[in-house]
Amino acid sequence: MRFVMKFGGTSVGDAEAILNAIRIAKDYLQKGNEVVVVTSALAKVTDELTEISQRAVEGNLEATGEFIQKHLKKHTEVARACIHGEDHLRKVLDDLDETMKELSGILKSIARLKELTVRSKDYLLSFGERLSAPILWGAAQDLGLKVQWFTGCDTGITTDENFGEANPLMDITVRNVKAKLEPIIAKGELPIIAGYGACSPHGVSTTLGRGGSDYTATLIGAALDADEVIIWKDVEGLMTADPKIEPNAKVLHRMSYAEASEMAYFGAKAIHPRALQPVMNKQIPVRIRSSFELNNEGTLIAGDREVKTDGVVKAVTVVDSVAMISVTGAGMAGLPGVAAKVFKVMGDADINILMISQSSSEAGISLVVPRNKLLRAKNSLELGLLGTELVKDIVTEDDVCIVAAVGAGMKGSRGVAARVFKAVADRGVNVRMIAQGSSELNISFIVAEEDGPKAIRALHDEFRLDTAQQSLN
Ligand code: ASP
Ligand code: MG
Repeated sequence: MRFVMKFGGTSVGDAEAILNAIRIAKDYLQKGNEVVVVTSALAKVTDELTEISQRAVEGNLEATGEFIQKHLKKHTEVARACIHGEDHLRKVLDDLDETMKELSGILKSIARLKELTVRSKDYLLSFGERLSAPILWGAAQDLGLKVQWFTGCDTGITTDENFGEANPLMDITVRNVKAKLEPIIAKGELPIIAGYGACSPHGVSTTLGRGGSDYTATLIGAALDADEVIIWKDVEGLMTADPKIEPNAKVLHRMSYAEASEMAYFGAKAIHPRALQPVMNKQIPVRIRSSFELNNEGTLIAGDREVKTDGVVKAVTVVDSVAMISVTGAGMAGLPGVAAKVFKVMGDADINILMISQSSSEAGISLVVPRNKLLRAKNSLELGLLGTELVKDIVTEDDVCIVAAVGAGMKGSRGVAARVFKAVADRGVNVRMIAQGSSELNISFIVAEEDGPKAIRALHDEFRLDTAQQSLN
């Protein structure tokens, strides 16, 4: 069988975790499988790169110097602890040195110019994986494997220039990835790919969005017609709810692509929201499992949304850091084109809308947007609409969250919404706005941010998610 396996930040967080990851890959190879490894940056490194980019743009040269020292030390120590062969270690340390010099140069330029564009930021953020991949390479060499490592760009993953959240250009990517990796796999060697980063057709560095090494893995999986993509993490799989909120949360053993995507969009951080797109068409299964608990098989994502299940709601998730905007005015009723204007304004301001609802009186449209875009959204709407006499008022609230109940069994099953809202109301939680997609795969609603956990626990109890899993699988 052919596997593409991605190791997340914690699964390559230190020397021990890296050795464990390489042993897992080796085990699959020894059983006669073909394997491609995709790696994340060492745990937290991308977050720290994001932070240092802020210090740098403030002109803080000292902080950038400290950052380089700290990360050179950290990566060097990890490399020394998991690579023992002198030659391999030397090669990796040279590699790390050189990459650090490049990184240092970039940070210094940002600090001197006090300028950071989305374009240069993507270049900067791709360094975490450029530093982790060679360490995995060395560790794999040490364990006697034949290995080559590549950046996403070298592998041929090609995207548009939507920096920060670039979109893969599938045709070129598939062609490049096949041409690059098939010969290596055919020789029985192990390719290790730095996840997250890619390149535009002009060779400019891009990234696939935070958590994007999942996406790297599924893109490669689709290009190589893998039998399965495995996402190794430090959690056991997708869960019925965030265990930090609901201690009785359970691992979901099976989800359809549509359900898992819906969960990812609605805050379950276990997989990158767009990562399932490339594999869905080809029906390549994706398994999310823990690299530290090998006895557990994790969550298998496969099949259509029509998967027959006896559970209605399978999981509940919460998205915080959102805000609600209500655009109101009696003049809006019966007038075609108001919604179009609202959405055009938002689109022109480059603001992603997470939820929409309009009451049938047509006197108001409510939108939910990322909280950090609220000010821009409000200003743009005021500039674009208040003069038109249709819209009287634009009201915003920023202390809200989205709660979503997800499950394919909800489709065509009556009374689910009634149960959802009764359960929430019984706990004294006030619902501010409701939306159900016509896919009927989820019901999502807005509550005060402080009520989010209460709503999650209410739904988890109502739909018996702590016990439902056994009967689902
Ligand atoms: N290192 C990147 C991030 O933390 C990509 C990833 O880990 O998937 O967002
Ligand atoms: Mg990460």
